[in-house]
Amino acid sequence: MAEIQAPAEQSSGKLLICGTTAWDVINRKNKATEETESQILLSPHLVRDLIDVKIVKAITGPTACHSVVISEKGHAWVFGRNEKGQIGNKTKICQDYPLKITSVTENRSALGIRKIVDAATGRNHTLLLCDSGEVFACGDNRLGQLGLTDLNDHTTFKLVTQLVGKKIVQLACGADFSLALTDKGQILAFGSQEYGQLGNGTDGQFIKSAGKMATSPQPYPLLVKGLQDKHIVQIACGVNHSLARDKDGYVYSWGFGGYGRLGHGEQKDAMVPQSISFFASSSEMARCTEITCGATCSMALDGQKQVLLWGKWKNTGDGSSGQPWMQPKYIYDLNGWKMKAISAGSQSLFALAAEEATAIAWGQVQSSELGFGEESAVKSATRPQKIEPLEGITLTRVSGGMGHTMFLAQPNDKLQDFPKWPVLPEFEGGCVKCSKGDNEDQILLCDKCDNPMHTYCAVPALKDIPEGEWYCDSCHPNGHSPDSEDEGAAKTGKRGQDSGTGKAGKKQKRG
Ligand SMILES: [Zn+2]
Ligand SMILES: [Zn+2]
Repeated sequence: MAEIQAPAEQSSGKLLICGTTAWDVINRKNKATEETESQILLSPHLVRDLIDVKIVKAITGPTACHSVVISEKGHAWVFGRNEKGQIGNKTKICQDYPLKITSVTENRSALGIRKIVDAATGRNHTLLLCDSGEVFACGDNRLGQLGLTDLNDHTTFKLVTQLVGKKIVQLACGADFSLALTDKGQILAFGSQEYGQLGNGTDGQFIKSAGKMATSPQPYPLLVKGLQDKHIVQIACGVNHSLARDKDGYVYSWGFGGYGRLGHGEQKDAMVPQSISFFASSSEMARCTEITCGATCSMALDGQKQVLLWGKWKNTGDGSSGQPWMQPKYIYDLNGWKMKAISAGSQSLFALAAEEATAIAWGQVQSSELGFGEESAVKSATRPQKIEPLEGITLTRVSGGMGHTMFLAQPNDKLQDFPKWPVLPEFEGGCVKCSKGDNEDQILLCDKCDNPMHTYCAVPALKDIPEGEWYCDSCHPNGHSPDSEDEGAAKTGKRGQDSGTGKAGKKQKRG
């Protein structure tokens, strides 16, 4: 899980995204075309469909080419790669833009009126957590990673009946396995156990045929061993390894041990959780306050909110496969920086400064997921760098995925001028309602679709250019936003709209 739990009070924000949005092409260079190149967002863009929604969580992970976004009202949107049905849209066809999951009838009837409060994304599966403590799952279930014993793929969200009776409070997904944290601070694990990542004492290996080993699926949620007397408050998963932090700031790791990502000074796999000695030292300041996992590394914040990293996090030199960091180490370049949030994607690493409106990123990435922008000479960085386009923007969360990154940002003047994704073609001409370009000082732009309109042509008509955000009647039919409880009234997006009406409206309302 790359998402980081925020402090108790949830602050909502606007969703930003950068990196590639050609979901089916990520990590598959052979499928790259001119068109998919054009789908790379070099700098963070506002997500147009959700620009008018108060977002509290944006979730993806180091193996995920798909994402889940959760609103303050407990609604969820899913988008991205969908080869195993992980979007929950009843198909296995890529979902380019956010889809409200309750707009699919099957999901709506399964989820009922529950609020969604958390989610986790694996390589090809998705888990949703409801405020009731129930978990719903969809996507690839070959190894039991959905916790559904049929071992079939599911293209809509299904209740994980194996977890009924437990109150789940947090979820995390590795590539092909899942962890669920209970309100009692205990962890249940299911899915692939190939490297011991379920922490149940076995790798589930058996002889499939002469000389061929295979791992058995584990769809039954089993208690992670050896942590029964600990109260776990946070869980995180890399591709094939797991981390857990307890209420006292001690950290445990298990699963695949390659490149020292478990932090035990060796590369051995661990079939059951082991305490990472760094965090158990006599110094109180060494106690951990946040954990996250990258694909082949792990990251944490210590008691002073300083960043620690271990495993393999770059391609050459110190910190690469040749010289992996076998135990947690401080990052020299971030010395003295206090951070409020961290995240690791497939190749990307992020930290949000606690006391400045600054975001820091590094990693040897392929698709501009560090968001350094058009102006930047570099797309990739082996040492931490400020994300310049985000300077002055207060971010509350960051989530790194495979090839893409999402941020939650507090609205301000600078954010209002950010580009939007998808980028819509520029229109020539005047008001979309009357097609006239007169009374230019009475033309305003919708903050979602960018359509220009006279104040007096707007529905309902406006006396003057309004202060703050304004959305046209096409984006908010009957005044309903996409986060409205009334699903029927909420339409998404404006792509593919009739572009016959020209426009060249000025952003009058922004002066
Ligand atoms: Zn008009
Ligand atoms: Zn609009």
